[in-house]
Amino acid sequence: MKNKPALSTLLAHADRDFGAEHGAIHKPIHTSVQYGFEKVEDLIGVFQGTIKGGFNYARQGTPTTAALEARITALEGGVGSICFATGMAGICATFLTLLKAGDHLVCSQFVFGNTNSVLGTLRGLGIEVTTVDPGQVSAVEAALQPNTRMVFVETIANPGTQIPDLEGIGALCKTRGLVYVVDNTITSPALFQPKAVGASLSINSLTKTIAGHGAALGGSVTDTGLFDWASYPNIFAAYRKGDARQWGLQQIRKKGLRDMGGALSSEHAHQIAVGSETLSLRVQHSSATAQGLAQWMSAHPAIAKVHYPGLASHPQHALAKKLFGAASWLMAFELRDASRLNAVINALQLPIKATGLGDTRTLIIPVAPTIFWEAGPQVRAQMGIADGMVRLSLGLEALDDLIADFAQALA
Ligand SMILES: *Cc1c(COP(=O)(O)O)cnc(C)c1O
Repeated sequence: MKNKPALSTLLAHADRDFGAEHGAIHKPIHTSVQYGFEKVEDLIGVFQGTIKGGFNYARQGTPTTAALEARITALEGGVGSICFATGMAGICATFLTLLKAGDHLVCSQFVFGNTNSVLGTLRGLGIEVTTVDPGQVSAVEAALQPNTRMVFVETIANPGTQIPDLEGIGALCKTRGLVYVVDNTITSPALFQPKAVGASLSINSLTKTIAGHGAALGGSVTDTGLFDWASYPNIFAAYRKGDARQWGLQQIRKKGLRDMGGALSSEHAHQIAVGSETLSLRVQHSSATAQGLAQWMSAHPAIAKVHYPGLASHPQHALAKKLFGAASWLMAFELRDASRLNAVINALQLPIKATGLGDTRTLIIPVAPTIFWEAGPQVRAQMGIADGMVRLSLGLEALDDLIADFAQALA
């Protein structure tokens, strides 16, 4: 392959980089939990990490999960990746292995609900957390303390589609020596590499954009190679060995995957890998559909507001245009008359009423009575969640079919 093949080319041929086993074109599903060795020296070498690429117990990885990790590393332009059973397992492992009691984390206030829930767990463990609106780097800077170790943001927030000052925060983290973690789930490497804005770690819920089919859970953490782990105080002596760019991942793999145990199965790694082969085609299609539908909805009299970074009216439109290949497949809109919410959603034929994101089918959910119900009316008002707000995750349906469906449902 040429030096920098297009994403679709890279994805279609990624398995071949591993050397075909018996000529198999797909990386096989390795189900073995145990791995045996001819010589005990090799068993010892794999344990001690002096033999690279070996396997000893499937909780730390298998040939199938390793192939997926290498594929994600290539997509993200990183120096290594670790796969987990879910996106949440990857996020928790990152927090719990790189932060300790007395440290301080600055986190976007617009993060995935379960990530937000984890912040409470961290506080209970003695880790200080400050949440900020990351739209301006100044808000992040103002929140920094002498014990701040990490900044966590998402590329495009769900459901409000807010975008952080990704570049400004990257520059700030570099100056202050902070670990900059970017959850790339909504954009995925098909639209954005967090490495481009100086991220230290890029996290993907593989369940969403990368697998795309909604048939397997998975998560990944990729090291971009930009962070200087030698200067990071929380790396245990045992992991301060070899290439310093791998120290962070070594610690996350041993403490976060081996010890905490949220391992991705080979079966699911295979399903995610197969789904990822169509990543760039799916994302191009569903992003173009979201753009077309957002424009159509903006002109519809029954709709008060459309949240989509591809619209000129979006507060971070210019930033999205500069950084992302497209404004993604996630959007939200607000009905002018919130009392029609259920009737309009029930009248739709194509979008499926479901809570997930990033499927081949378009998924729809009213936000206030579901994912933000527990938050209560006050928090909803603070976060800009209107009663008539609806979230849409665009799938592979044709734009014309979706417009026709929304036209009849809104009428
Ligand atoms: C879904 C999601 C997660 C969690 O991923 P799971 O695979 O469901 O655990 C994390 N971050 C974002 C932005 C998500 O949308």
